[in-house]
Amino acid sequence: MLDSIKSLARQYAADLVQTRRHLHAHPELSFHERNTARFVADQLKAIGITPQEGVADTGLVAIIEGRISDSSRVVGLRADMDALPIHEANDVPYKSTVDGVMHACGHDVHTASLLGVARILHVLRDQFDGTVKLVFQPGEEKAPGGASLMIKEGVLENPAPVSMLGQHVAPNIPVGKIGFREGMYMASTDEIYMTVRGKGGHAAMPDNLVDPVLIASHIIVALQQIISRNRPPASPSVLSFGRFIADGVTNVIPNEVTIQGTFRCMNEEWRAEGKRRMVKLAEGIAEAMGGSCEFEIVHGYPFLKNHPELTRRVRAQAVEYMGPENVVDLDLWMAGEDFAFYSQVVDSCFYRLGTRNEERGIISGVHTPTFDIDESALETGAGLMSWLAVQELKAP
Ligand SMILES: [Zn+2]
Ligand SMILES: [Zn+2]
Repeated sequence: MLDSIKSLARQYAADLVQTRRHLHAHPELSFHERNTARFVADQLKAIGITPQEGVADTGLVAIIEGRISDSSRVVGLRADMDALPIHEANDVPYKSTVDGVMHACGHDVHTASLLGVARILHVLRDQFDGTVKLVFQPGEEKAPGGASLMIKEGVLENPAPVSMLGQHVAPNIPVGKIGFREGMYMASTDEIYMTVRGKGGHAAMPDNLVDPVLIASHIIVALQQIISRNRPPASPSVLSFGRFIADGVTNVIPNEVTIQGTFRCMNEEWRAEGKRRMVKLAEGIAEAMGGSCEFEIVHGYPFLKNHPELTRRVRAQAVEYMGPENVVDLDLWMAGEDFAFYSQVVDSCFYRLGTRNEERGIISGVHTPTFDIDESALETGAGLMSWLAVQELKAP
């Protein structure tokens, strides 16, 4: 089986590059993946697979049935399809043809890889037991996350996967290598919006005013102490404020200050408790200083946990496929990822596909206008995922 998968992946590698380049040149923003969805549907039909279309509007689900036996399992494989509002700065033949929209997070690579998996496993379908469920998901980059919508529309039922696998490009890992991490891996993401109100006026007469700039400054400092004093020390957390607008001048104190930030962590209980404390503290400080604070939280993705046993199994199979020298361990990453929604419901493993090639200057990070990949990663992306799926179908 391993040799068959490897040789099919090699055989399809050039096509996968073309598929990825087509997707890359025609990016679509989150929840607007109409042409992408049509393209994916056409590709699947050409293989001989009829997908269910219009799941969460622009998502697709496709089933590949192997042999049906008593021990038949279902494994879910997920690719996200959306691009970002970034203007591509790469000068490549497959450069984005849409101004201000770019596949800068590699979701074109994930989608092309999963189409490769579809092709490989469709050919080999009489050689494995069980069912593979392919999930082509919209809107990873934008709240509430396409994953949450697809789960609501039943993607984890009928048939219900026992496990979900997902992969993501990694511009910090050399091409040809794969990264895994058991347990907590990526952070929950919540957005914070505060408006601190006081009473503005002439800066020379602060005794007649309620200074929202000073109140907001106290709030920022105090909130950081929630992270240092109330957070369980073993629980990674980040609280960052990137926007603090006090629109006065040297001699005018404004009426209000607006603040925006992000709260990230890897523990759902602490996440709820941390947010509760932040609201209380910010409102309390503002009130004690004679002003008020409106505190709004937009709840983002949960934290992403890789099921330990599943991840160990999958990692061992990756070693089999790639060789031990090509399987690396990942650090915690405080970025968010909506694959986390699957990981909260079903045993899941989210791993990283190395795409870096220093010699060729392919080193830019995701979400930058110069992001690109070494396209030989596509052969690995499709072949390895096919192998992992088939092995996971056999797992006890
Ligand atoms: Zn991204
Ligand atoms: Zn991404």
